[in-house]
Amino acid sequence: MQICYFLKNYATKSKKIRIMKKLIIITLIITCFSCNSNAQKTKKDSKTYSVTKTEAEWKAELSPMAFYVLRENGTEPRFSSPLNKNYKEGIYVCAGCNTALFKSEHKYDSGSGWPSFDKEIKGNVAFSSGSEMYGREEHCAVCGGHLGHVFNDGPKETTGLRHCIDGAALKFIPKNE
Ligand SMILES: [Zn+2]
Repeated sequence: MQICYFLKNYATKSKKIRIMKKLIIITLIITCFSCNSNAQKTKKDSKTYSVTKTEAEWKAELSPMAFYVLRENGTEPRFSSPLNKNYKEGIYVCAGCNTALFKSEHKYDSGSGWPSFDKEIKGNVAFSSGSEMYGREEHCAVCGGHLGHVFNDGPKETTGLRHCIDGAALKFIPKNE
């Protein structure tokens, strides 16, 4: 009888242990994922950029959409930016700090609804890690402002890359100005 009780108890115990193990694994997976995004965030936040401002300063300077994109990693609605269909000659600078980020000669119509470029101005655009499927995040190397994502479905005849940029994060400076 006692053995029976022991076996029953043992069986319940091992079942409990199995459930506990599953719970621990699930918790670990969740923790891992949240750690990953936190780690990325911390990494970006802790990096010092040559142009650094407080949230209040950025908010006072930027349009609400530019603040949402640049400082809060937001995405503007598709086809909302007047720069999406802008094909004039000139340069695209960061709306936060005026750093030159993209040239008009590298702009093309991707049909995505966001200004698209096949090449950035090297050194002025920085990239965070990210999956290929969702694109690597890209931001201004000078102020850290979020710009958009880069994908591998760009024009094959050039770089094969599509820098999908929020127009709100950019300012266009025509060539003769
Ligand atoms: Zn910037």
